[in-house]
Amino acid sequence: MANVKEIIDLIEGGITKKEEELINKAYEFAKVAHEGQKRMSGEPYFIHVFETAKILAKFEMDIQTIIAGLLHDVLEDTSITEEEIKRDTSITEEEIKRDFGDDILFLIKGVTKLGTLKYRGHERHVESLRKFFIAMANDLRVVIIKFADRLHNLRTLEFVPEDKRKRIAIESIEVYAPLANRLGMGKLKGELEDAAFPYAYPKEYMQIEEIIKEKKELYKKYLAEVNEKLKKELEKNKIKFIEIDYRIKHKYSLYKKLLKYNMDIEKIYDIVALRVVVNTVEECYRALGLVHSIWNPLPGRIKDFIAIPKPNGYRSIHTTIFTGLGGIAEIQIRTKEMHTEADYGIAAHFAYKERGIRKANDHKNKFKWIEELKELKYAPRDPRKFIDHLKMDFFNDRIFIFTPKGDVIDLPEDSTPLDFAYAIHSDIGDHTSGVKINAIMSPIYSKLKNGDMVEIVTKKDSRPSGKWLEYVKTAVAKKHIRSYLEKNSLLAKLKSFGRS
Ligand code: MN
Repeated sequence: MANVKEIIDLIEGGITKKEEELINKAYEFAKVAHEGQKRMSGEPYFIHVFETAKILAKFEMDIQTIIAGLLHDVLEDTSITEEEIKRDTSITEEEIKRDFGDDILFLIKGVTKLGTLKYRGHERHVESLRKFFIAMANDLRVVIIKFADRLHNLRTLEFVPEDKRKRIAIESIEVYAPLANRLGMGKLKGELEDAAFPYAYPKEYMQIEEIIKEKKELYKKYLAEVNEKLKKELEKNKIKFIEIDYRIKHKYSLYKKLLKYNMDIEKIYDIVALRVVVNTVEECYRALGLVHSIWNPLPGRIKDFIAIPKPNGYRSIHTTIFTGLGGIAEIQIRTKEMHTEADYGIAAHFAYKERGIRKANDHKNKFKWIEELKELKYAPRDPRKFIDHLKMDFFNDRIFIFTPKGDVIDLPEDSTPLDFAYAIHSDIGDHTSGVKINAIMSPIYSKLKNGDMVEIVTKKDSRPSGKWLEYVKTAVAKKHIRSYLEKNSLLAKLKSFGRS
């Protein structure tokens, strides 16, 4: 059975008496609020909020976030299971405010709002993401609580009916995980994907299991040997390391990579990775030199994400070596700070033990785009900037095009301004005479790129031609053009009849 001590023990660096009392209070509060409620698994509902709080504690979130995790479902249903939706609750906002204060109430309300969000496939992506972004811009901790909530829901997904299970799993992979990645929360991203993978794509999951099973022992052997030798050499060369550990690639990211390489596992070089954590950046480079003096590196596989961090802030040096036993292993070298950030990303900046003015400022500078998002709200005033920040790697087969007013039109890849015009209104489409892409006059058949801002110039006497059918990608545009052409060829015929 659950015990509040489990949460408190997870909080690194210790907490004050007052904070402990508040956690206790929240624990009891949630217990009473969820009294008699059950999850689909048959477990008491309380276990869900308890586990959510534990995930947050593991992510080293601040006390308020952990408390909000315990209380995230008391106000209203925020989750995805039937019994929660049907549930009526008598807890009021005033009670929470009185007992836990404005800040925690704000977090709980934020999570509740996000909870009403349902995934409805591609066409709703934009809306879902926007809601997330706005919540983030207000207080990122809301999103992190939602992540923890989702992670626990995924871990208990086997009890949810099948159709729903698949929807939740796919939504986690398509919306939650990319967002976690964007926030630099690599560990969370991996955990979300791996928890969702078997339910989202059961066949593919089994396939990966098979592939890994065959190789696992071999990988372990490589790792043990490289690990041993590396430790010895670092010591001999007086490079102090804080830790060396290793990981086998997350299953879902391995699957995605395998897809790219024709399912040929021999072409994947980072299935096993050793991580060397040192104190300083200088030692990172010295360690790299040492690694290359012991093992031959694979050409073209040396990546310096310290000098050039990834867009999501990830820093580390990667190199891939021949282990000398016919095997290959990736070695990642980084400082402790980089290591924490790689796992927790933006969450690292809310870490309990590291909170303080300096850190807070640091986070503001680093994730300035979140601050900017705040200003963007629903109608991004500067669409270019909006998109630059988001690095729309979320959905590869869709592009998001902005109107001059900042509305977003969601189109398939390779769409043209004509598709865009027809997506707004058939009248605009039918009378398109010219087009500006990012304020530059451009041909109407130009291929649009994600984040383009498109302005359609219409003229009363402009009209579709047969050629237009070759210029459009969407079914909607084709339909309108055809119907216009049919109508007018008929009219033309009638007219010429009348004249002759
Ligand atoms: Mn929940």
